[in-house]
Amino acid sequence: MPTAKTKAAKAKTATAKTFNFADALLHWFDQHGRKNLPWQHPITPYRVWLSEVMLQQTQVETVIPYFTRFLEHFPNVEDLAKAPQDEVLHLWTGLGYYARARNLHKCAQQISEEFGGEFPGDVETLTTLPGIGRSTACAISSIAFGQSTAILDGNVKRVLTRFHAVDGWPGLPKVEKALWVHANANMPEDLSRQRCADYTQAIMDLGATLCTRSKPACLICPMQTACKAHLTHTVDQFPGKKPKKTIPEKSTVMLLAENKQGEIFLYQRPQTGIWGGLWSLPEFDSQDDAITYCVAKLGKVGEIETWPTLTHVFSHYKLHITPVHIAVKTKRAIQEPDQQLWYSAGGSHKLGLAAPVKKLLQAIDN
Ligand code: SF4
Repeated sequence: MPTAKTKAAKAKTATAKTFNFADALLHWFDQHGRKNLPWQHPITPYRVWLSEVMLQQTQVETVIPYFTRFLEHFPNVEDLAKAPQDEVLHLWTGLGYYARARNLHKCAQQISEEFGGEFPGDVETLTTLPGIGRSTACAISSIAFGQSTAILDGNVKRVLTRFHAVDGWPGLPKVEKALWVHANANMPEDLSRQRCADYTQAIMDLGATLCTRSKPACLICPMQTACKAHLTHTVDQFPGKKPKKTIPEKSTVMLLAENKQGEIFLYQRPQTGIWGGLWSLPEFDSQDDAITYCVAKLGKVGEIETWPTLTHVFSHYKLHITPVHIAVKTKRAIQEPDQQLWYSAGGSHKLGLAAPVKKLLQAIDN
């Protein structure tokens, strides 16, 4: 004789079997999806691409002002392609992960030179372009071109690990592979062009607004009757945690050399590596090294002041920065004018600045 518990479990299994992921998602999207994001009016491949690159590792609210500013400066891909890299990095300052900005610029130049300013619509070609991975390519292809292509960004990974109860950290290749299988299987092939775009937006919206990292709103979620994690009360176990690693710590001394005009000495970092292509303050192992450099390269040294240490956290290490402010009484001519300059906050320089450098320059100004 089946107990009430077994009956309930059977009923749940039956619901899970008859449940249609895409139908439930699209039905919810029609009522609750986000339809007024700045890149949705109008939808063009350029605007979708720009927003998708900015949204990698960054939340919508943070991206909106950057997206708006970029469009004001570069209304189309040709304008972005023609812009100096410094201007692109300048507008990107604060958004982090600067390789994205350098790749964005390179990609715009490639679209302009090799594709006559028109974005390709197929995933295969899109993934050959700088800064466009598989998920971003699929998002552009489905949202801007109405192609039936599943995506797998951070939000979608979270939804799928919970809905299908996929164990393991989604950053692991085997877990990611399993998630792509689910992402493709959930995506119907017979959607109209508009519904393909809606589906992609819908699954991103579900992850961003209901199936959030902490406190997912399962009770109002359209997936609750078939979501394995919800049905087994294990939502807090998904997605699996990243294996813990101790982040190494490094220390550096940053030289804030200020001349009598209130200008600060900056240099441009190499294109590759940390803060690639951004303008920064010279770094040294010790305060003495910073002073020696200042005397040898920049001019006669006046008052020296050590500022409190600040810590900048990268994804793979922590950097403790001790700023040393040195007044330069009589300045020498710049030795490498292409990669060095005296920077004035109110001046005409449009430079990409590393986040802690920007903070330090603002501290001088205040
Ligand atoms: S039911 Fe909960 S865990 Fe499952 S998809 Fe919805 S919000 Fe996420």
